Amino acid sequence: MQNAKSSGLSKLDINILGSGLFGFLFLSSNPTLAFLIFIAISIYFGFGALAAYVSDKSPVAPTQNFIASQKGGGIQPSSSAAITDERTIADRINEALEKGDYKCPHCGATVSPLAVKCIYCGSVLAAAVGLPGPEKWDDVEIGQTVLVKHPQKGDLRLTVVNRTFYGELWQKQMRPDVPWTLTGSYFARLGFAGGASAVNWQSRFFFLDGEYALSDQDINRDFAPYARQFAASNQTKTVRFSYKDAYWAISDIGRFRIEFVEGEGIKAQPGAIGRFIHFNSDARAMILEDYQSGGNGLDRIMYGYQIEEKQIKF
Ligand SMILES: [Zn+2]
Repeated sequence: MQNAKSSGLSKLDINILGSGLFGFLFLSSNPTLAFLIFIAISIYFGFGALAAYVSDKSPVAPTQNFIASQKGGGIQPSSSAAITDERTIADRINEALEKGDYKCPHCGATVSPLAVKCIYCGSVLAAAVGLPGPEKWDDVEIGQTVLVKHPQKGDLRLTVVNRTFYGELWQKQMRPDVPWTLTGSYFARLGFAGGASAVNWQSRFFFLDGEYALSDQDINRDFAPYARQFAASNQTKTVRFSYKDAYWAISDIGRFRIEFVEGEGIKAQPGAIGRFIHFNSDARAMILEDYQSGGNGLDRIMYGYQIEEKQIKF
């Protein structure tokens, strides 16, 4: 999947290439038909540019241009906007590690740059060295056991085996010259032994039992049309659709950068840029993660339940 993505030829390129070949074939046999095809292609791309211009001028939410552009829904200029070059949390930790003088600022003991708390005095280290962190679960560590009140299975005692910090991205205005930047909000995903995970995003909490990989074709066919409708309504419209065995409603779409990962079973690397869709079907929930070309992330669906924060105890 990532190989296909990084091939360098977008679907649009292939379309244009295909049209050109057809035009050439007809030109050699039938000049009139070739001319008509040329006109049709011009009109098609002309309208595409107009639509992109109009949508660019509309007042929109920062996350509006979800999948639409890259997944074959037309041309939207702001998707080509630059993405922040601010260092990821992982970069900053690595720099501290390379300096080799990573010490607890409170007691002076030499500590691991990956440690959340000083093992000598208990100080929270990430905050002390000025690193941003997630709003929830920033002090949860690998190996820790948590108690989850599962909506179906009751109490589960689970061990944290990995964690991922997401940085929330937004664009002040939806224009190609306005870069995507970090909002300053970070959210965590905790992976548990056995494959389940817990995700916090803003005020929402999820317990996700399972996941499977998606191809770009899957995303195009099953999700992109609905994400576009939701985006076009400035995320205000209730967009429902059937997928597999249930009827789903989109609750949020947005864009993120992977800031930090730690532990086993990680499927995205720091610096990876992706988009998400959150879906609900009563208590059930899904999160779709769709990574940008060359973004070092696996496109996937994670499924499970939306839960209350208090259903996870540390
Ligand atoms: Zn200390």
